[in-house]
Amino acid sequence: MLDEAHIGQLAAEGKSTLRYKVAHMDCPSCATKIETAVGRLPGVEDVSLSYHSQVLRLKLDEAATPREQLEGTIRGLGFGVEDMDRIPVLVEGETDVAAPAKQPWWMTPKARLTGLIGLFVAVGFLVSWFAPALEDYALVPAALVGLAVFGRRALALARVGSPFSIEMLMSIATAGALIIGETAEASIVVLLFAVGELLEGVAAGSARSGIEALAALVPRTALVIDGEIAREVPASRLEIGQVVLVRPGDRVPADGKVVDGESDVDESPVTGESVPVPKQVGSAVIAGGINATGALQVRVMRAAADNTIARIIHLVEEAQASKSPTARFIERFSARYTPFVILVAVLTVLVPPLAFGADWHTWIYRGLALLLIGCPCALVLSTPAAITSGIAAGARRGLLIKGGGALETIGRVRAIAFDKTGTLTQGRPQVTDLVSLTGNERSLLGMAAAVENGSSHPIARAILDRAAGDGIPLRPARGQKALPGRAAQAVVGGKLVEVGSPRHALERCGPESIPADRIAALEDEGKTVVVVLADAQPVGLIALRDEPRPDALRGIAALRELGVRSVMLTGDNGRTGQAIGRKLGIEVKADLLPENKLSEIAALKVGAPVAMVGDGINDGPALAAADVGIAMGGGTDVALETADAALLGNRVEGVADLIALSRATMTNIHQNVAVALGLKAVFLVTTLLGVTDLWLAILADTGATVLVTLNALRLLRRAK
Ligand code: ADP
Ligand code: MG
Repeated sequence: MLDEAHIGQLAAEGKSTLRYKVAHMDCPSCATKIETAVGRLPGVEDVSLSYHSQVLRLKLDEAATPREQLEGTIRGLGFGVEDMDRIPVLVEGETDVAAPAKQPWWMTPKARLTGLIGLFVAVGFLVSWFAPALEDYALVPAALVGLAVFGRRALALARVGSPFSIEMLMSIATAGALIIGETAEASIVVLLFAVGELLEGVAAGSARSGIEALAALVPRTALVIDGEIAREVPASRLEIGQVVLVRPGDRVPADGKVVDGESDVDESPVTGESVPVPKQVGSAVIAGGINATGALQVRVMRAAADNTIARIIHLVEEAQASKSPTARFIERFSARYTPFVILVAVLTVLVPPLAFGADWHTWIYRGLALLLIGCPCALVLSTPAAITSGIAAGARRGLLIKGGGALETIGRVRAIAFDKTGTLTQGRPQVTDLVSLTGNERSLLGMAAAVENGSSHPIARAILDRAAGDGIPLRPARGQKALPGRAAQAVVGGKLVEVGSPRHALERCGPESIPADRIAALEDEGKTVVVVLADAQPVGLIALRDEPRPDALRGIAALRELGVRSVMLTGDNGRTGQAIGRKLGIEVKADLLPENKLSEIAALKVGAPVAMVGDGINDGPALAAADVGIAMGGGTDVALETADAALLGNRVEGVADLIALSRATMTNIHQNVAVALGLKAVFLVTTLLGVTDLWLAILADTGATVLVTLNALRLLRRAK
């Protein structure tokens, strides 16, 4: 017999996953409308529509609803729809990526409709000017054209589950105005509504292009080295393993590795790190970087579709589509707000004439104006518009924020925990001292290197580099094992050799045999000391120094200025930690095992949210434990995936930038909400007092929407 899960699976197999590009959405509530409408069709599942990327994804059982019907439903609501899998992406020849043809805004159907209504209104006014006898009828055609278009859309929306749309409110108001003989008012209302929609569309388009600018960083063509010659090919067609020539002044066309040449590459367009990065054979380069000085040959390591920029754009689009807590709150609020205003409008029409014998015409007119105030479009837009711009503004400066929620939280953070190694320091420690207690320095280094071979810890790399530099051959070792936060161990020459923290050594062999004074002296210089043990007996010390990042001091100072407390968490010992902490002006919690880092974060969390900044390599749990995990990883996969935000450039100052950006975004949201609600409140009062005309009421809505969108765009222009 088939169980339910199995049946479900069979049913799911009959479904195809479809992707559509939806055009003409100019308000996030449009996305909700379409989602609701499409979700109600039989056989449709998992509908998600991103307002910003304009991509609609869904599963469709084509036996229940044919594709044509689905597409027709969306068109019926007044939106364009195009099957993405039918849009040709690659075209032969020079033009490589065929973006769906972009119409200039004045050519869009919306613009033509607005022009038409505008023409009718102009003619109407001329007619009533020259022939006052026709005054009552001259503007009816303009109103009817608008009513026909918007009324039809209102009905389509009502049929698919959104009866209280702005189109519905507007159509009722227009029809009502025509009926009570206010024809000029009716025509102006439809005209302003059309103009508003047009402006919103234009503004929303420029918000979208904020992120498209990133894609433009990748050059369109690349020079593939083919034997002796370099051949020009579209960058989107580069294949993994090909070698490309990047001349000075060129942009790097693909993520790859340098195989020949030496140069400085300015990666600031992607990472926000303004200092050019020196590159030599073996260095990784990312698509979009500008090659400054020398010619480079680069082996392509990633195809265009999943290079760093493509992944950033994808993450940004997902982030922009995610709903922040404020946005969700406002959506819940507006779901109640509209019916409430409609109720007030109905009461306004009925109560004064019926209860107090007031004039019907006056109160119907006021009721209609109230209907127009019932549209929450500007309010619904207030938060997502700001979040979208904020996320795009960050991405342009190498601050990748993975959701509206994270963006909202970061600004409220009062304490930030920093991992030391690789975050506040460069993560590339160098061996500075070798202290042999029994044999010579070479055998000490050889033993340590054998143990560290295979460990990915920065200390391990430093020891291996030093051994290689001194020409010490690697001794065979087996049973290599890491004790995270403590040591590495292996069996070398029949002995269990361990390289680990002094604390680990102390636990292994007691205080007597450990040269505590020498360790302390080295640690006071800010060096990390590891003890090499053979069969639980100390045989030597290795001291390493990891230089702080050049901007760490400034980064911490910038945070202090923002009123944020910084704490360094480290598994290193207290002396080393304090020595570095003094230099950087940061509080220090040292000697922490990985699990202690988690409890430190929990302790900081009391009262206000906490952010944790790490390199994303061995501090995943701590990043996850904080309210906001910020990875500083130069765009490594781990960093991009585990954290809530990532600093693509390795700049400590980026943390303060993130906080400032978040606060600016929240201020922007508050301004937007104030504009949206403030205008409504003013017009609510003036309407009831009878001093608002219908056209002012519609202006309050479309005007507010445009203001809110423009205000949000200011975030994109924010200087560094
Ligand atoms: P951090 O907090 O600086 O990132 P870890 O928690 O990774 O440091 O490690 C803490 C301490 O444990 C190091 O300072 C070192 O003494 C010891 N340790 C951890 N792994 C190793 C290793 N592979 N080799 C030597 N020592 C290690
Ligand atoms: Mg670390």
